[in-house]
Amino acid sequence: MNPSETIKTIKEIWLKRLIKQFAKGDHLKSDLTDQFLLYFNLMEQSLETGEAGWFDSLMDTWSTSLTQSDLEGNDNSLTDFVKQIVSITHQVCLEQLDPESAVILLTDLLPISLYVLEKAAHYETEAKISYVTRQLDQVRLSLEKLDRSKSGFIAVAAHELKTPLTLVDGYTSMLSDTVCFDENNLQHRAYINGIQKGTKRLRAIIDDMIDVSLIDNNLMSLNFQPFWINRLMDVLLIEMKPSIDERNITIKIQDFEGYKELNFGDPERILQVLRNLLMNAIKYTPDGGEIEFYGRKLPGFVEICVHDTGIGIDSEDQSLIFEKFSRIGNVSLHSSGKTKFKGGGPGLGLHIAKGIIEAHGGTIWVESPGYDENTCPGSTFHLLLPSRETPPDDKTAKLFEDLKAKG
Ligand code: ADP
Repeated sequence: MNPSETIKTIKEIWLKRLIKQFAKGDHLKSDLTDQFLLYFNLMEQSLETGEAGWFDSLMDTWSTSLTQSDLEGNDNSLTDFVKQIVSITHQVCLEQLDPESAVILLTDLLPISLYVLEKAAHYETEAKISYVTRQLDQVRLSLEKLDRSKSGFIAVAAHELKTPLTLVDGYTSMLSDTVCFDENNLQHRAYINGIQKGTKRLRAIIDDMIDVSLIDNNLMSLNFQPFWINRLMDVLLIEMKPSIDERNITIKIQDFEGYKELNFGDPERILQVLRNLLMNAIKYTPDGGEIEFYGRKLPGFVEICVHDTGIGIDSEDQSLIFEKFSRIGNVSLHSSGKTKFKGGGPGLGLHIAKGIIEAHGGTIWVESPGYDENTCPGSTFHLLLPSRETPPDDKTAKLFEDLKAKG
């Protein structure tokens, strides 16, 4: 008897054994019986033709019927199922056939069983991968939705806060003018100064929130004008002098090719980026530290680097800090002091800096050996800005033609 004939003799007992092993209820019994009979027919077909590829579509179908818990679990449920069928086939052959026929049949079945097991593992892995991909897609979609509603909330909150703030600002200015004439009222003067300082800080936070919603909705428009990095730095250093002096920080500026050259961009926005970077460098550098500005000209770009001798940033946080609300470390450190050591803030500065630089067609990144408050390894922020000899739009280009001609 050839193996495809021999196998027919064990069909009944083989089926009974499998049903006993797997089927728990009546409906499962009839379902499984059909599937096992299909499997048996394929074994016969494969033995006859010497080709195990007949099993492909059955393994594919079985893999698509895996349940959610099968797909979520770490066990190989389909592969295990097939492994048990193979093992029961093996046992039944040994029990029911004479040794010689059993060896001949099992020898022929071996490559078929190996093929079926490999296919089961393959289809099961594919089903698991596509399940995880679907889950990830769902998570991504809900995160995107959450981000959109967060950004919508920021925009509404910022605009709602701006109106009462303008009222407080206006009345405080009127009060300030009135109290100003009363020399004896120094106490009131101090109170008014306090309110004005607070409203200024609040306005800065609201402006940041508006910038974040502009960036998130791709609505940031740039006002292209000529600018010179060295002139922006002069303005910035005058503005930040009180904080630099208060924290006893040394600022070093290295001249570089491109530093004093004309470029086109939005000077106010670029100043805002440099201000955010310098403010952070001061904030995260201990008193008496050093901050250095340097850079270089690259083909089509100018690179500006801001290096500090501060507490540094962990490598795993280095991309996170450019996300909005990304305060790393202890949240309780929030402070109203903009440049107080480790003073903290709402975590918007770098997100805005990134948005502005990317709107210019550039990029921003940070390098730091790591975070350590004792050894202060420092951080270096890099800005890569496109160098433009003319503004990107024709109208502005025409406006500044003369300036370019004069050099
Ligand atoms: P924040 O308002 O918190 O300063 P930023 O967006 O400006 O927000 O910065 C995000 C986080 O990045 C900060 O909370 C801080 O943990 C980290 N960070 C930024 N600049 C530096 C720096 N120069 N040195 C160390 N950490 C920094």
